[in-house]
Amino acid sequence: MFNPNTPEIQFALNTVRTASKLVAQVQAEMVTAALTKDDKSPVTIADYGAQALVGYLLDQTFPNDPLVGEEDSASLREEKNKETLERIAYFVGQYTDVATMDSVCQWIDRGSAESGSRYWTVDPIDGTKGFLRGDQYAVALALVENGQVQVGALGCPNLDIQYLTSDHETAFNPGNGSLVVAVRGQGTWAAPLSGGDFVRLTVSPRGDASQARMLRSLEEAHTNVGQIGDLVNTLNVQAAPVGMDSQAKYAVLAAGKGDVLVRLISAKMPDYKEKIWDQGAGSIVVEEAGGRITDLHGRTLDFTAGRTLAHNRGILASNGGLHEVFLEGLVKVGA
Ligand code: AMP
Ligand code: MG
Repeated sequence: MFNPNTPEIQFALNTVRTASKLVAQVQAEMVTAALTKDDKSPVTIADYGAQALVGYLLDQTFPNDPLVGEEDSASLREEKNKETLERIAYFVGQYTDVATMDSVCQWIDRGSAESGSRYWTVDPIDGTKGFLRGDQYAVALALVENGQVQVGALGCPNLDIQYLTSDHETAFNPGNGSLVVAVRGQGTWAAPLSGGDFVRLTVSPRGDASQARMLRSLEEAHTNVGQIGDLVNTLNVQAAPVGMDSQAKYAVLAAGKGDVLVRLISAKMPDYKEKIWDQGAGSIVVEEAGGRITDLHGRTLDFTAGRTLAHNRGILASNGGLHEVFLEGLVKVGA
């Protein structure tokens, strides 16, 4: 078992659990059949609300630690968004002392820091499209010290803990959500999001590329589906890659329910740089489960370059054993 008694790990577990509760509550109350396709208000409220909550909890526990978060309050402070801000304060207030519109904005803006020698990074809702569709999404929090992720936690309200921790192949079903935590040198562990015992996760032993179960973004704009097809053909991979939103994919890989995860570069955004909050927690979750994560050229992820992985290009994560053959495949398809 990892040592849960350090303040950092306790903070990570408590924060991700609480923020996951908030976003699941927003989803339950606001994502209804009546919601029109263009109405993004639930995800806006949940996203800002969760980041505000993380900023608040960080102020209580580690007031001097910087937070690198996806959101800032600039647009929320505009008069036309007052109602949205009021809704956010309503939800956040259920998990904090007193949440005023001003304090909520200040907690959100805790997340505007640049990276430093020690910082936390949060994606309050990774996979916003999945959140709105009722598919996978994750609350992702990581602690980075001297460029190395030390702790990572993923709250995945729609990722069934039974699916993640069963020894045999089970069909993917909705169920009780999962909390996945990785601690440097102490493994990757999963428990029911609502509480319960932690079970250790380990990657699959699969070594035959043709049998690889691949994971990719469901959103085609976030990757390069054509090139993934080329990779599948080049390596003679039999099964079609599975599309899934958010860093829930990294948890699935860590649990040995998938073998290889690719984030290729969209042709529409050839200069896209991965955001640190999209990779911090997920990367340690994979590594501590025995897997490997690099960029598409096999380079180590560099968490010292500001708010993005500016020195890297795309992501390849795997069970380790399949990494080299997939790196070679990526070269062949020109990724
Ligand atoms: P996923 O659910 O795997 O598609 O990943 C969601 C994350 O993709 C979001 O948090 C965004 O930060 C990130 N994202 C947005 N645009 C792109 C893009 N063009 N390429 C790669 N990732 C992106
Ligand atoms: Mg994200």
